[in-house]
Amino acid sequence: MKRIFIATSNPGKLRDFAGAAAAHGIEIASIPGFDTLPAVVEDGLTFEANARKKAEAYSRSVPGEIVLADDSGLEVDALGGAPGVHSARYATDAPHLADANTDDEANNARLLRELKNRPPEKRTASFVCVIAVARDGKTLEVFRGQADGVILDAPRGRNGFGYDPLFFFPQIGKTFAELSAGEKARYSHRGAAFRLFLSWYQSSPGNQP
Ligand code: IMP
Repeated sequence: MKRIFIATSNPGKLRDFAGAAAAHGIEIASIPGFDTLPAVVEDGLTFEANARKKAEAYSRSVPGEIVLADDSGLEVDALGGAPGVHSARYATDAPHLADANTDDEANNARLLRELKNRPPEKRTASFVCVIAVARDGKTLEVFRGQADGVILDAPRGRNGFGYDPLFFFPQIGKTFAELSAGEKARYSHRGAAFRLFLSWYQSSPGNQP
């Protein structure tokens, strides 16, 4: 089985990536000692800037290996694309200044407050995921995936992480927290970006499973 390193300590993301990769004979592994490496400050203005920054920095710790990093978040149309790159710390008063993440429950509570009393047609949103692939400190390629849905006014489902229980996906009539790992890989922004990565990876000589 081929092994690809991923720069994340988020168990939800790791599960999503591993779920999407397994069917292709690829193992997704955390970078050895990831939690002991200096944290990369995610101060980019776009998902792509942050994904590149993480992939480039962390690839230096595993010389010669391909490293994936993703940056992702929720863009709500009625909120001008917020929380966007600040999705992981939306519950703070100044998400653009904060350097620590806030917990999922608090972030979801803020989202519900911001959208209070808005009708379903004003609650459209997209999850976006940008994956950057780097080796030895240089980005080789970036891939973007998106999933379009609607923010509910109460959570539904117990799977997943982050905003999943509030993100209703009309295409199959479930929230992302009601999906199995396989379904999430199939329909999510992360799965879509990962499939683009896979076709790039598998088209490179020597990388076929
Ligand atoms: P980052 O990509 O680690 O900067 O943080 C992404 C943040 O966006 C997460 O902490 C979640 O709040 C949110 N997010 C990204 N992808 C998902 C997903 O698949 N489900 C739910 N929330 C997500």
